[in-house]
Amino acid sequence: MTDVRAGAETAAQGTPVLRVQAQAANEADSRGAAMLALIRELHPVMRSITGRGLRDTIQRLGQVLPLNVTEVPTGTPVFDWTVPEEWSIEEAYLEHESGRRFADLRASTLHVVNYSAPVDTMLTLDELKPRLHSLPDRPDWIPYRTSYYKREWGFCLAHRELESLPEGRYHAVIRSSHGPGSMTIAEHVHDGATEDEVLVFAHDCHPALANDNLAGVAVAIHLGDFLRRRKTRYTYRFVLAPATIGSIAWLATHGEHLSRIRHGLVLSLLGDKGPLQYKTSRTGSCLVDRATWHVLRTEFPGAGLRDFTPWGYDERQFCSPGIDLPMGRLTRTPNGEYSEYHTSADTPDILSAASLGQSWLACLKIFEALEANRCYLNLSPKGEPQLGKRGLYRAIGGQKELPRREFALLWMLNQSDGKHSLLDIAERSGLPVAELADAAADLCEAALLAPTQEAV
Ligand code: ZN
Repeated sequence: MTDVRAGAETAAQGTPVLRVQAQAANEADSRGAAMLALIRELHPVMRSITGRGLRDTIQRLGQVLPLNVTEVPTGTPVFDWTVPEEWSIEEAYLEHESGRRFADLRASTLHVVNYSAPVDTMLTLDELKPRLHSLPDRPDWIPYRTSYYKREWGFCLAHRELESLPEGRYHAVIRSSHGPGSMTIAEHVHDGATEDEVLVFAHDCHPALANDNLAGVAVAIHLGDFLRRRKTRYTYRFVLAPATIGSIAWLATHGEHLSRIRHGLVLSLLGDKGPLQYKTSRTGSCLVDRATWHVLRTEFPGAGLRDFTPWGYDERQFCSPGIDLPMGRLTRTPNGEYSEYHTSADTPDILSAASLGQSWLACLKIFEALEANRCYLNLSPKGEPQLGKRGLYRAIGGQKELPRREFALLWMLNQSDGKHSLLDIAERSGLPVAELADAAADLCEAALLAPTQEAV
């Protein structure tokens, strides 16, 4: 159950504002369970940056949240890149002369180097070995390897299996093809009261890897689904696309939209049990940086803050100097910092419904903080107004500790000179934006505060 008080805020503040009350925690649990079930269902699909598996994934996600699908044709120039040929694969395996098969695609979609060229050839074990990829320090896990932009072929397998391969000749078979086609990009737009946009991006091209990035995709889809029945101040645009080439293609084909984007988040790696981590935008000081970190530090104990680096996921594209959008990245354990990253051990079993639900809730609270952020003017600024006679203050004074709600009222009254935004006051007071927004709504109702300009 979630109580969204859009109506009340409409009267006090002029435009609808998303509000997420405490009961949203209950919905977070059921959302987390639904996300984990969706991830388990999609985990085996043979995805890549183009092709059938990607389309099948989008089609399934579209049953949860309506998606507009765009196909960007092969050969389309997008900034310094070109949309590659479409890849499809039917089967792949290594067959020893004894008839025993290894690295069969049917056992794991990670067994073939993603985007491999077709091959049908006989080799000795020594000739084959340069084509085999394994992880000696994780001998039971299959690595995830790709070769999108160089026409190669190869197999990935557990190091223990690689070491046990018998001498002799092998039949290497990859029945794949590259050809003209297109790259699939999916979008969902939730219309708000204004054309100012919040962009939410998740990459959706990885095959059997759960945290990276079915977790980010599932959180994005369920955020979109939650917003469908809510009034918001911002328009929310959810974009699912392949990593790197997908975000670059989206940026290159949405030039007219970019000026509308006021805030954005890249979502990835949101299902593991580590604490939430926010990586800032390129500038490190935009509103989404401040709002996100404020929400995380006041409401999600253990959360961490990372400065921007030009390494990681699609924040590299959104924060490239010629684009420079105000977008950060929300993860739990960052890429490369959990041992299962880019291996067959990144399964739904390392995720938890609670983590997914908490990630989803954190995003909503970030949206809430962005939506609520605006300035107010104290209409009774000479001395403290008498709150008790308005029913806003406890009747009996003298207590040692000021109740938190009253603290919020006093902070709002003291700082509301028309210049300090809700987020400024939240940062200075250490109180959550939502509590200050509640206090502001009560003070507006009592005619002690009036909204002035919105902060965007
Ligand atoms: Zn990845």
